[in-house]
Amino acid sequence: MPLTPYAADPGRSRGRRHPEAAAPTRSDFQRDRDRIVHSTAFRRLVYKTQVFLNHEGDLFRTRLTHSLEVAQLGRSIARNLQLNEDLVEAIALAHDLGHTPFGHAGQDALHACLKAHDAGSAGFEHNMQSLRVVDALEESYPDYNGLNLTFETREGILKHCSKRNALRLEAREPGGVARRFVEPLPAGPKWRQPSLEAQLANLADEIAYNAHDIDDGVRSGLLDLDQLDAVELFSQFRREALTIHPHLKDRRLLFDTIRRMLSAQVYDVMDATRAALENAAPQDADAVCQLPALVCFSDGMALQSTVLKRFLHANLYRHPQVVQTTQAAQQVVRDLFDAYMHDPAQMPQAHSDRFEGAEGVMSSHASDTKPERVVADYIAGMTDRFATREHARLTGSLAFAP
Ligand code: MG
Repeated sequence: MPLTPYAADPGRSRGRRHPEAAAPTRSDFQRDRDRIVHSTAFRRLVYKTQVFLNHEGDLFRTRLTHSLEVAQLGRSIARNLQLNEDLVEAIALAHDLGHTPFGHAGQDALHACLKAHDAGSAGFEHNMQSLRVVDALEESYPDYNGLNLTFETREGILKHCSKRNALRLEAREPGGVARRFVEPLPAGPKWRQPSLEAQLANLADEIAYNAHDIDDGVRSGLLDLDQLDAVELFSQFRREALTIHPHLKDRRLLFDTIRRMLSAQVYDVMDATRAALENAAPQDADAVCQLPALVCFSDGMALQSTVLKRFLHANLYRHPQVVQTTQAAQQVVRDLFDAYMHDPAQMPQAHSDRFEGAEGVMSSHASDTKPERVVADYIAGMTDRFATREHARLTGSLAFAP
């Protein structure tokens, strides 16, 4: 099926930071996706926490399976809306590459460590780190660091960015992927949007985690189905499932409810986005970016999705059991940070060399060449289980009960 005129077109890409000849059989966005799948950071996602720590059970989502679910939802919607599936997939598969071990707990701890070390530090942001992974930290290609992805994939990966980090990126790459966070539009909405494909990957992320966190929450025993009756987005499809299959129970009932809930959200995004596009009638992919976000839920679904999100925050992410493991995970990250800052030789040679090199150029003060950034990069790249083992090796204590 042909793509719409406002879909991202690899033939009109703003290109790569290091120019490369086109691949003979693949578009530039396909090539980005393939580079991401073959990267080291992508393989590590299999042992990184989504909500439940990796060692808590083999059946919970990990960052890898989460990213695959985001890619599936994103591609499905992209195909229907005649947007560029390959770009959506590339962004979806890369969007969480910068996550630390132990999910948001790990990220918060690492952010606090950087801030405590240097109050002027920009700290740690996972979107920035995902971009840093694909721009600088992967070491696979002969001529450059990073994966040398196209502008469009990189822009989609940088979903959010603090003003301060955006200014730093913009200084290094004027008019680049951070421009939309620092330069307001002259007319219309204040800020420029990324491509429809990036907007879609973003919304698919939300749809995916809302659904799978219910599944994992119930599977773990931290949530129960009766509690979920308070959430209309869930309970209406539970009723629907039971009307059609009155004897359905337990896991099959849960799965059927979530399946219906996912489908309803996917169809809702397709309809609402198609209506928004017809209404705004953008000329092309560039005009889209100067309009408010067009990939969206209907108002009704947006409200229902917010209610679900609030429910998960209150009942799952802040569940005492989750909070308890979160605190242990944060201690692991703090201890690792202190240990490596104190004795960089505890890191592998390449990292300790980089640390010593960074100490030697303290006068440059570019914050991503500082010694603490070397340590943060090393910790951020760890899987949950590697971080736990390193912690045990360095402190002699077990962070989590076996
Ligand atoms: Mg995600």
